[in-house]
This record gives sequence, structure tokens and C-alpha cells, in this order.
Amino acid sequence: MISKPKKRRRKLRPIFKILFTLIALSVFLYFAVPFGIDILSNGKGIKFIGKPVNLLSYDAPSYVDVQLLDIGKARKGKKLTAINNIVVHYTANPGTSAQNNHDYFSKPDTDVCSHFIVGIEGEIIQCVPLDEKSAASNDRNFDTVSIEVCHETTSGEFSKAAYSSLVKLTAWLCQNSGLDENDVIRHYDITGKICPKYFVENRTAWKEFKLDIKNEITAQKKES
Ligand SMILES: [Zn+2]
Repeated sequence: MISKPKKRRRKLRPIFKILFTLIALSVFLYFAVPFGIDILSNGKGIKFIGKPVNLLSYDAPSYVDVQLLDIGKARKGKKLTAINNIVVHYTANPGTSAQNNHDYFSKPDTDVCSHFIVGIEGEIIQCVPLDEKSAASNDRNFDTVSIEVCHETTSGEFSKAAYSSLVKLTAWLCQNSGLDENDVIRHYDITGKICPKYFVENRTAWKEFKLDIKNEITAQKKES
């Protein structure tokens, strides 16, 4: 009477082990394989990238002027792998507007572009959809959203209006992609290029910017 159930258990255990292993392996492959394993120097060490669906399902906020570039040399139409950082740039072209820079990106021979351009007056133009790669941040184009910011002088300092729009947009991007102010980086942090100049040369300004993003994220969360 006692031996029968024991025999059954012995036969069933290996099946459960195999099933468990298969399920565990499937879960691992589901998350790890399609998006790779991020071992980039983003300050977080090795981490697995989940499905980057959050931000990608969002359209830009209403204050953004959407003027998507045609597919070509700059916007290639290739999909982002994930969104792990927001990268801030400056245009290095003093006095130009967001529209000027957008039109430059639109030229058939131009092979660079960013997702967004923030203008001196605070205007924002979107050039590339949020599920596609831009061409602004070198070998991090595959997993970042890029923002070019216009500036009036060679100092690279942003106008109050541009700064305010940049903080608002960056906070919105962080919120909707599960990131925070610590995930906002400079082009300089990727390649060492002096970009955005003012934030590279003024550490205090960069720290204040991060703090402003943090506060704006909190404010936006309260509004929503
Ligand atoms: Zn740059």
C-alpha cells in the first residue's frame, strides 16, 4: 500500500525538473536574447534589458512640433533596441533655431540627426520617432534618445526658455521610459567630446540640471 505512491513520485520528479528547467530557460531567453545583455559603461554595470515598450507606445507631448525626417542618410528607420539613457547635446552652431537645425538634418547629404531639437525660444521639434534610432550619439545610438539644444553664443549656455523646455521634455522622457535623472547623460559621457559644452565645462550647472529634472519628474507625476 505504501510502496505504490513512492514509485509514482520517483517517476514524476525528473519530469517536474525538466519542466521547471524549460520554463526557466524560456523566461531567460525571452528577456535576454532579443535585446542582448547590456555591458556598456552606463554606470550600472551588467544588467538585463527588459522589453522597452513603455516609452515607445507614447506619442510626443502636445507642446512638441512633430516634423519627422524622411528616411535617408540621417534617419535610417532602424529600431531602437531599448532606451537606457537620454543624451543631451548642443548644436555647436550659435544663434541657429530648432527649425534651422531640423532643416539641416533634412538635407539629403546630412548623416546626423537627433530625436528632438530644443530651440532658443523654447520651441521643440521632433525629428525621429521614439522607437527608432537617431544618429547623434555614436555607438550608443542603439539604446538612447537624443536631444540637441540650440544656444545663442559660443559659450554654449542655454537660454532660460531653452533650458526650461529641455527640463520639461527630459523629465517627460524619463517618466515614460522608466528612467530617472541619473540616466540623463551628456554626449561627453559617451565619447569625451565637449558636448554639450556648457554642461561639460560647468559641473555645477550639470548637477543643478539633474536636480531640476528630478523635481520636474516629481511635479509631472503629481499632475498626471
Ligand atoms: Zn553632441
